[in-house]
Amino acid sequence: MIALDNPGRVSGYVSFHNSTDVSAWQSIRLPIYCLNGRPGPTTLVMGGLHGDEYEGPVAIDSLANTLDTDKLVGRLILLPVVNVMAVMAGTRLTPDDGLNMNRAFPGNPHGSITQRIADWITQALVPVSDHVVDLHSGGRSLNFAPSILLHEVPGRAMNVAKLAAVAFGAPFTVLIHEDHADVMIDAVVEKLGKVMIASELGGSGTITHKTVRLATDGLSRMVAALGHLSTQENLVKSRLVRLPSSDTYLVSDDTMIFAPALSLGGSVRKGDTVGHGHFLDRIDCRPKTYTAPHDGWVICLAGQGLARRGDVIAIVAEGVQ
Ligand SMILES: [Zn+2]
Repeated sequence: MIALDNPGRVSGYVSFHNSTDVSAWQSIRLPIYCLNGRPGPTTLVMGGLHGDEYEGPVAIDSLANTLDTDKLVGRLILLPVVNVMAVMAGTRLTPDDGLNMNRAFPGNPHGSITQRIADWITQALVPVSDHVVDLHSGGRSLNFAPSILLHEVPGRAMNVAKLAAVAFGAPFTVLIHEDHADVMIDAVVEKLGKVMIASELGGSGTITHKTVRLATDGLSRMVAALGHLSTQENLVKSRLVRLPSSDTYLVSDDTMIFAPALSLGGSVRKGDTVGHGHFLDRIDCRPKTYTAPHDGWVICLAGQGLARRGDVIAIVAEGVQ
């Protein structure tokens, strides 16, 4: 572990014991940066909880290596790749134990590698932080129009989160209620009344010039809005939407190739064609048309051409007045 109170920039590794078929006494070394400026709040910024989501880790790595700590107010604790095993293996889940880092909170100090890293974040980092930013993208199977995600929680934390979310400047700021929130980092942070902000910044297991530029510039704007840097004028607009309940997501009925009929981020009216499912291995099945369940914006489409039965193939977010 590194000292979190040293002035200026400190970097190092946090080591976790691991034991696998190929390495009996392995040390998993998790990169960590701590940037200290003048007295002020602490923000924990994390990326790479899932190993096939790249915008967050790259934006955090850029921030860690370029931010001038003479201009910094407060402290930034930066973890570019929380699930370093999955990131380096190119997988969503931890290869060693098959667990999902973003369903492993609050963690377990006596558990597997994923559970122990989650426990360390819960016990050592969240309590010393005022704000927690957890940057995700869609991974292989989903592709999101770049969005900042907020849970609707009462009180001051939500107001701070909303200002910082809009400052990021993603095309969409999304209010969301998640079915599995209890086992995510979000629950740990919100139970302590702290500010929680998450994102979906792209997907399909790729990283593009456009999304990485937005992630890098947006993270700087968000950090400024959280009180760490003098705020710059933000000319980027973000549309506020709400994610409907998950039973309105469009889901693949069978293994098929999903061909979108519109662009990611576009607006739709109820009943508009979102795309067609093609059952290419069967001559007895005509293509199936999937339509928008309500008015809104298509903020997520299937991340790959091949969709399996039960995969989400489209999500239409509703406008917020
Ligand atoms: Zn993720």
